[in-house]
Amino acid sequence: MQRILEEIQDEVRPLLHRGKVASYIPQLADVPREHFGMAVHTVGGEVFQVGDADHRFSIQSISKAFTLTLAMQLEGDELWRRVGREPSGTAFNSLVQLEHENGIPRNPFINAGALVVTDVVLSHLAEAKKTVLEFVDSLVAGEPVSYDLEVARSEAESGHRNRALAHFLKSFGNLHNDTDAVLDAYFHHCSIAMSCSELAEAFLFLVCGGHVPGRDQPLIRANQAKYVGSLMLTCGTYDSAGDFAYRVGLPGKSGVGGGIVAIMPGHFTVAVWSPGLDPSGNSLAGTKALELLTTKTGISIF
Ligand code: GLU
Repeated sequence: MQRILEEIQDEVRPLLHRGKVASYIPQLADVPREHFGMAVHTVGGEVFQVGDADHRFSIQSISKAFTLTLAMQLEGDELWRRVGREPSGTAFNSLVQLEHENGIPRNPFINAGALVVTDVVLSHLAEAKKTVLEFVDSLVAGEPVSYDLEVARSEAESGHRNRALAHFLKSFGNLHNDTDAVLDAYFHHCSIAMSCSELAEAFLFLVCGGHVPGRDQPLIRANQAKYVGSLMLTCGTYDSAGDFAYRVGLPGKSGVGGGIVAIMPGHFTVAVWSPGLDPSGNSLAGTKALELLTTKTGISIF
């Protein structure tokens, strides 16, 4: 595996300059495109990594998988009264579909869906921002995980579209808490800074039937881990989830910070980071790296 990761790092190097760093969140626009990191954590506890795998970056929408897991823990299937489970086929921050579908977001990974999930979490937890961070932190050993407050502030200042989505949801009665409180929590969740190695470690529960390795009690039930994985496969990589599934063959969740986490149930988790994005918003070199991983190892869910 280590040799394969090193080969992949060499092969994607020419791609690092081709992607475009997300600039609509001003704080992300300054991240150099040259970064590349990749880490694999196996269910047996082995760790393989290359490049900037220990460098923390803004996980952005990857956080939506964490908040969805928490919402499932807190609310179970009730959640699906307020959010759908279908790919959206429109941009992750689109307003049009929400109007058409009466304020029920297509899935929990588009921004509107994640805002509803955040609202659910806020309704259950008195100190949601603190608890979400503690939840994520509990999934990784080592240095405490933290919010990047500059990124959160930068997005709060520039996040007009998310504000519009939140108010739109509120107008349909699908946001129960104060819109500013939901947005504040959402922007903070997106600003969590983690490395590839930490992300791969944190997602192990999804390849172990909901169990965090070494813990007695599962985090979520095995069928709920299946649900999260299935949603990652169908909705986790923006408007190109079909192409991602075709090329990579693993459920994945990406973020505009250039990170992607993918899971191979029963085997391993993998996280990759390269800030240059393709036109659909997924890391360009990161997607290629994952495609090479499943091609070279011959391991995918298919
Ligand atoms: N915080 C970002 C937004 O709401 C997340 C986008 C993403 O990573 O998909 O626009």
